[in-house]
Amino acid sequence: RPAVDMTGSQRSATVIANYGARLRVETDDGRQHECHCRKNAGPLVTGDRVTLEIGERDTVVTRRLPRHSALSRPDSRGKPRIIAANIDQLLIVIAPRPAFKEALIDRYLVAAELSRMMPVIVLNKTDLLDETARETLMQRLDIYTQIGYPVIPVSADLAHGLDRLRPVLRERSSIVVGQSGVGKSSLINGLLPGVDARVGDVSDATNKGTHTTTTAMLYHLPDHDGTIIDSPGIREFGLWQIRADEVALGFREFNDYREQCKFRNCLHRSEPGCAVREQVGHRISAQRYDSYLKLLESVEQENY
Ligand code: GDP
Ligand code: ZN
Repeated sequence: RPAVDMTGSQRSATVIANYGARLRVETDDGRQHECHCRKNAGPLVTGDRVTLEIGERDTVVTRRLPRHSALSRPDSRGKPRIIAANIDQLLIVIAPRPAFKEALIDRYLVAAELSRMMPVIVLNKTDLLDETARETLMQRLDIYTQIGYPVIPVSADLAHGLDRLRPVLRERSSIVVGQSGVGKSSLINGLLPGVDARVGDVSDATNKGTHTTTTAMLYHLPDHDGTIIDSPGIREFGLWQIRADEVALGFREFNDYREQCKFRNCLHRSEPGCAVREQVGHRISAQRYDSYLKLLESVEQENY
């Protein structure tokens, strides 16, 4: 927990939600305040640590403390806009229905690695699987456990497996991402009793959930040991403005070999003396390497 700054009427606090002109903040003693922000404190987002001045009539944010991470999305004009700050961990929710693709998981993993968030893969809706189907899916996800990413099977509907997830969330701030309909809202509701993240209906026609919430909100877990930031804008974020040479940095199993490539700017494609490619089928799974090539290609297309 951050130290409480109490110089005069100054307090440190965390931004819980930003409604445009007004903010909801929470001081470290757990009290919430509605307030506004001094112009020179700059734009603030959910998760920001700030200094507050609590006056008799008004509470004002005077200063933003440095961010240790920031997550941005393109706005309507394609410019990067930060939507949440100080996130430690990315919960990548997948489910048997709607079916997942490894390509999407890999995109999230790259995004997490490049923004220094720890990824955790959560397989939801295990209640839809019999023993054999569950085994098959877990085996399919073995490529991730083998490179050190936790895979946690849960059923948000039956509240199964949440006890394995809670310790992972402790003392960290996490965000939940994943395709529409995989059960992100259900999971958040399961972890945060009393919070009503809207659960959408999966319509048969599109297999997609629908949502009505609009602003990023920060929630404390019941034991007050960790936080979850939920935002529809974050939920389905993908990769954006990543340079081609950064993609490989998001594939952690390349790390041990990257430095041994003959060329410093090796993209591990068809360059001679590529130490990464040499490991494909050995220390690097062919599937992940293939996914890397596809991602590299799509990033190159997006950038030109
Ligand atoms: P979101 O779009 O990712 O937020 O997904 P929702 O939480 O809105 O859930 C989409 C649908 O999946 C809803 O109909 C939920 O009831 C259902 N769902 C969520 N979790 C589970 C689960 O653990 N098991 C089953 N069978 N259905 C679930
Ligand atoms: Zn290489």
